[in-house]
Amino acid sequence: GNGSSSPADCGKPLLILLNPKSGSGKGRELFQKQVAPLLTEAEVQYDLQITTHPQFAKEFVRTRRDLLERYSGIVVASGDGLFYEVLNGLMERMDWHRACRQLPLGIIPCGSGNGLAKSVAHHCNEPYEPKPILHATLTCMAGKSTPMDVVRVELAPGDKHFVMYSFLSVGWGLIADIDIESERLRSIGAQRFTLWAIKRLIGLRSYKGRVSYLLAKDRKEPPVEAAKEAREIPVESDQQKRPSLPLNAGEFHDLPEEEEGDLDGEQFADAISLDRSVYRQHADSWHSAMSRRTAYYSVGGPSMRSNRSRMSISQRIEAANAEFAEKVPTGTIPGLQMPLPSSEGWICEDGDFVMVHAAYTTHLSSDVFFAPDSRLNDGLIYLVIIRSGVSRHQLLNFMLSLNTGTHLPIGEDPFIKVVPCRAFRIEPSSTDGILAVDGERVDYGPIQAEVMPGLINVMTT
Ligand code: ADP
Ligand code: MG
Repeated sequence: GNGSSSPADCGKPLLILLNPKSGSGKGRELFQKQVAPLLTEAEVQYDLQITTHPQFAKEFVRTRRDLLERYSGIVVASGDGLFYEVLNGLMERMDWHRACRQLPLGIIPCGSGNGLAKSVAHHCNEPYEPKPILHATLTCMAGKSTPMDVVRVELAPGDKHFVMYSFLSVGWGLIADIDIESERLRSIGAQRFTLWAIKRLIGLRSYKGRVSYLLAKDRKEPPVEAAKEAREIPVESDQQKRPSLPLNAGEFHDLPEEEEGDLDGEQFADAISLDRSVYRQHADSWHSAMSRRTAYYSVGGPSMRSNRSRMSISQRIEAANAEFAEKVPTGTIPGLQMPLPSSEGWICEDGDFVMVHAAYTTHLSSDVFFAPDSRLNDGLIYLVIIRSGVSRHQLLNFMLSLNTGTHLPIGEDPFIKVVPCRAFRIEPSSTDGILAVDGERVDYGPIQAEVMPGLINVMTT
């Protein structure tokens, strides 16, 4: 984790957003019985906001001016849906980048879709059942956090264009169909998924279209390898290769001797509160820049340069943050309206698909262990592609093994594969079908996604 002070002693309260309608509608009761007593006992200060309607949480975090000054973190007591609102509300703030770095986000699973809570418990090696709420509350009280990947999703249904930020999944085909269509069976509880799965397996559909993905080339290499690679890249041409944030906004400037060298690399990383792992990945190139004493990494653009010698370090940081705030995260892959490059690591498949389902956390819900190899901060999207022609027998096995995470083929399989990638694009040929982002239906049409490694921090033990 990168945080160390307990929320109890850092002075600021936690913001807790509670959805009274989540799960079976007992959110308030669960909170009073299981969460509040623990917080009180540990003397954790909190400000409880009970949502009154959909979008309440999103608007709350989007518009509260003093959010960062007032709170030490945000805890979502609900399902994945409310977490999605909070993430997207934060991303629409002017100071989104600072918000993502400064405010750790926690989840207490009071909803019915609890993929994130289960994934976090899995990451922490903490128990989940039989008391997921208690365990998650303790995790949120531990005062630590871990960077987590966020995925920028672009949608272009009809002539519209949307950007949204996702933390769980993008689904097209089988699982999304089952998930969304079985909503109407909500009343029968967990059985709904199984029942609808059987129905969909009998009336199996396939979808025509194109799937493209940008392979993660350095996967499985330990961090030290990544650092080595960073060293080999010449500093000046490194810009696009870096994680898009916060480094893209920075530039190397040649500066007169007297203006540089007032911070070493470590202090600098601290000063602009760079994520440690991001810092380490790039430490080599920075250090070499520092030691050559010809370049100084500045988070300000050229406009800041002339003022810089007159600004204190904290003023520089403030100015840099303000500058970041104006930059919307644009992503690094071509926009959805643009063709993808035929080289540069993009692989493209046309055909009939039973399913294309991308996940970035281990669990899609508390009982679907979809991407067992996934890590919170691995910068990877696990894209599972099932091609048409797969037998019902194989599909049934796939569905029945989701629970234990044994559904993916071990070696090569002609129909089912998993591709760790950094970005992907799905272009359905038909005009109707189901697309889901984080388990919620979105407008049908072309969709693309790109991972933003370690963009947010989630509360962990
Ligand atoms: P669940 O996992 O039970 O579906 P979620 O946290 O995903 O719980 O919430 C489901 C939806 O409820 C979210 O999309 C959210 O926008 C919406 N919501 C939030 N607050 C309220 C409220 N007070 N009344 C009705 N719906 C709400
Ligand atoms: Mg991941």
